[in-house]
Amino acid sequence: MSERTRFGPAGVPPMFRLMGATTLDVPKLLHEEGLDAFEYQASRWGPKPQVKQEDAQKLGEEARKNDVKLSMHGSYFINLSGKKEVVEASKRRLIACAIAADWMGAYVVVFHTGFYGKVEKSFAFKNALIALKEVSAEMKTLGLKVKLGPETMGRKFQVGTIDEILTINQEVEPTQLVIDWGHLHALHQGTLKKAEDFRAIAEKVEQKLGTEALRSMHCHFSKIEFSSQGEKRHHTLDEERYGPDFHMLAEVIVDFGLHPTMICESPILDIDARKMQATLKEVLDSKQAKAEP
Ligand SMILES: [Zn+2]
Repeated sequence: MSERTRFGPAGVPPMFRLMGATTLDVPKLLHEEGLDAFEYQASRWGPKPQVKQEDAQKLGEEARKNDVKLSMHGSYFINLSGKKEVVEASKRRLIACAIAADWMGAYVVVFHTGFYGKVEKSFAFKNALIALKEVSAEMKTLGLKVKLGPETMGRKFQVGTIDEILTINQEVEPTQLVIDWGHLHALHQGTLKKAEDFRAIAEKVEQKLGTEALRSMHCHFSKIEFSSQGEKRHHTLDEERYGPDFHMLAEVIVDFGLHPTMICESPILDIDARKMQATLKEVLDSKQAKAEP
């Protein structure tokens, strides 16, 4: 697949459902809209894949046919830093997601690492790191090709600061960098205010993981409302009172020559994904026009 910034929704757009479409129809419908990524939602899954292997493979075929890059959002019922039984059950759920993601040919299974709970944050994080290394070893034994994508989180009690995610990416193989920009903004009470704030994150990633990891990052984006505890709810790009502003990220994408996969998590999934795509094109065109003599 060619290296370009791709855009798509987190889950099946509500309008597709109203039209009577099934999940299998989604890649074609997205392609018709000019979109080229799709994050399949396995968010309620338990310890076994909740899709038939045959259907997962068919979805993968449809995605490839329509040039749609597939990712999976894994189960929400994962806590890799909790009590032993909880961690064991979480590992089973994550592996079930990874198995099905592999059937689909999805390139990453995105997940929420866990909660700090009552223990020291660094202790909770270390436990999660150990559990993830065990998951990755089991994935290798199973011959799975999909990468693990721990996501940057937006609430204070969740494991997943940018530093923690970068450390996991350094220490666990194979991983894919997943940055949720709305979460970063919400966790730190609205820190992404100007393009430089996005640029600083990009520089930090490049320094820790290298240029290729930065260029090919997987992103979630939407505007977000937050409280003192962090993330409260996702909003559409048109809601001016909320941040962050995608235009600023688009500038960084162009300046650094990035080609991320951008998954839109706003309430109007595909519509805002297209808006982001148009914004990136605008930024690219205006910078090119300026560069010409
Ligand atoms: Zn998520």
